[in-house]
Formats: sequence, structure tokens, C-alpha cells
Amino acid sequence: MKKIYLDHIATTPCHPKVVEAMGPYFREIFGNPQSDHEFGWQAKMAIEEARAKVASLINALPEEIIFTSSGTEANNFALKGIAHAFEKKGKHIIASSIEHRSELTPLRFLEKSGYKVTYLPVDSYGRVDPDEVRRNITQETILISIMHANNEIGTIEPIAEIGKIAKEKGVIFHTDAAASAGTIPVDVNKLSVDLMSISAHKFYGPKGVGALYVRKGVRITPLIHGGVQEKGRRTGIENVPGIVGFGVASELAEKEMEERTKYLIPLRDKLLKGILDRIGHIYYNGHPTERLPNNVNVAIEYVEGESMLLSMMKEGIATASASTCTMMSLETSHVLTAIGVPPQVANSSLLFSLGINNTEEDIDRVIEVLPKIVERLSEMSAIYPGIGKQDSNI
Ligand SMILES: *Cc1c(COP(=O)(O)O)cnc(C)c1O
Repeated sequence: MKKIYLDHIATTPCHPKVVEAMGPYFREIFGNPQSDHEFGWQAKMAIEEARAKVASLINALPEEIIFTSSGTEANNFALKGIAHAFEKKGKHIIASSIEHRSELTPLRFLEKSGYKVTYLPVDSYGRVDPDEVRRNITQETILISIMHANNEIGTIEPIAEIGKIAKEKGVIFHTDAAASAGTIPVDVNKLSVDLMSISAHKFYGPKGVGALYVRKGVRITPLIHGGVQEKGRRTGIENVPGIVGFGVASELAEKEMEERTKYLIPLRDKLLKGILDRIGHIYYNGHPTERLPNNVNVAIEYVEGESMLLSMMKEGIATASASTCTMMSLETSHVLTAIGVPPQVANSSLLFSLGINNTEEDIDRVIEVLPKIVERLSEMSAIYPGIGKQDSNI
């Protein structure tokens, strides 16, 4: 049985060219980039080459890219680093209610340390209203942090409009672009952002490497204090092979983005149509047009997401459900809750994220298998309320 991977928002496989480019940096060019000899210089040069490629992907300057260990670290760095650097100016932060956990958790941490965070609501498509951002800015506001694209429902936020407002009001603006950079065009100038988090493993780069873009002139306090790497802003020895892979993944993404998108959108639409045509009692989550080219999020009433995942796995199909996104606990997705999906339906969600290695046959297979699974599981669930009633009579 062919295994089908439809969970590219969790992570992607490394592109073969990425793996190939990383190889020498484990073997021959293993020097410490800070060393003053050939081995070190070569490693240092490779990092700077990669920095230029990552910068180019988001239209930044190379010196505005700070390499980190992940998108999670980049988000922590942005939030805590700006909070600390501007604590004398104010202690108010604006974020959306559908941010990734790696945003919400440091925000909660900051709240415990005396910061005030306003979590903006979203509409039923998951979009933040830019006017709502404007209305919530006060003298105390030091940072606005709204994600570029949502990893669960694929909705793209009106970042450029929010960026304009932030600029006009003189408030620093961060966006978490871990789900979008490398997949859709991202331009730090067109979006008017001051900080941006990105992650290599979301677009065929290696795991454990990310970057924070920090616009020239923006002050930020480091999270990690140590030596001189990344000009003292993020110290600790650089993940040289990872950074090299990140660079190549960025270069490939920039070059192939249009082609990849043209390939993915018809596959995504075929999957969605196939599911909607064959399965009843179904909700389609996220924005109809302002969405990632590779995301399909549906909720199927009366069927538990977890059971669907297990049944799909038995058929060799790997996908995700919002109810399992949160560390294997059956906690309802905060994103689906925020867009108004009732909890019992939210726990029936299925999240498909497609990748460049998926084929039409993969999609055909899902369309063939899923309706049968849903039928079987909903028959079971139709029996359960009956049993429940009998129980309560005893
Ligand atoms: C994946 C992801 C992250 C976390 O990035 P890691 O590199 O996996 O730590 C943060 N935000 C969003 C929106 C993501 O999709």
C-alpha cells in the first residue's frame, strides 16, 4: 500500500537538493564559523550565502536576517525581545486570537510578567479586521503581532493593511509567517512589517532552523546571551548545515513558487470538491479565496476527528485534525472556536495540507476512502446516543 502524506503544515520532507547541499557541511566543511582558519572561513561564507538567499525570499536585506533554531524561537524572540526593549515605553501588545501556540504561550508568559495583551477576535473566515487593530492601539501599545497565514484553516490575514496602520501610529509590527513564507509570496516591504518569523521545515528545508527578520533600526533585546554569533543578537554556535539547507530551500521556493502554486491549487480544489460532493453534514473552514494554496480544512458532523485519523492511517493516509494539533490532547482547536465552529463540530475537523510530491492519484485515493470511513463511523455514532438514552433510564 502506498503511503500518502497530507500533513505538510506539520512538516515537509527535505527537498533532495537541500539534502545534497547540506552534506559537505557535515563532512568536509565542518569548521566553527568563528574560527580564524580555512575551515571556519568556509563555514562563515556558507552562512552568509544562505542569509542572502533567505533575505531574498522575503525581500529583506541580508543583515536583517537573524537565524534561530525554529519558527517557535523566532516568535519568542520577537515578542519577548520587543517587550523587553520597549518596557519603559509601554506594556501593551495586540495579537489575534488565532495565533500559533508558539505565540500564545509566550504572550501568556508576558501577561504574567505584567504586560497587557489584547487578543483580537476574527470573523467566520478567520480574518482580523484592520479597523479593530486601529481601535485598540493606545499610548501604551508597543507591539502588534498578527500571523500572516493561519496554519490550521489556511486563511491569509490582511497584513499589508494592518502594516499601514502600525506604521502610521508608530507601533512595531510583527507577523508570524511560518505557515506562509516559502509557500506564497511574502515581501516585508509590501506588508510593512518590522519583524517576521519564518521556518525552514515548512517549505522543504530542514527541521530545527528558522529566522527572525528584524527591520534595520528596530531595537530588540536578545533571548540568548553568549558570544558574538549573529552580531550578538542570537548567540550559540550556528547550525551550519541547517542554515545552508534553509538557504537552498529559500532559493528553490523563490524560483519554483509560481509553478508549485499552479500545481497545488487544482489538487487542493479537487480534494475539496471530491469531499464536499460525497460527504454530507460538512463544514468547510477558512476563507474561500484568501487562503494558502495547499490547505483544506473541513469538519464532518457526527464523526470524531480522532477516529477518522486512525481509520485513514490504516489506509496509509497521514493527515491531521485540529483536535490533535494540540499535543495529543482532545482540546478543541482555539482557531475553530474563534471562527464560531460549535465545539462538537470542531472536534470533527480534518486538516489536509498538500505538498509538491502529492499526485492526483493521492487525491483520488482520499476521495475514495474517506466517504466510506465517514459512513462507517457515523453509523456507529448514530447508535451511541441510543445506548446513552438506555443508560440514563436505568
Ligand atoms: C510551524 C509553525 C510555527 C512553528 O515553527 P517551528 O519551526 O516548527 O517551531 C509557528 N507558527 C506557525 C504559523 C507555524 O505554522
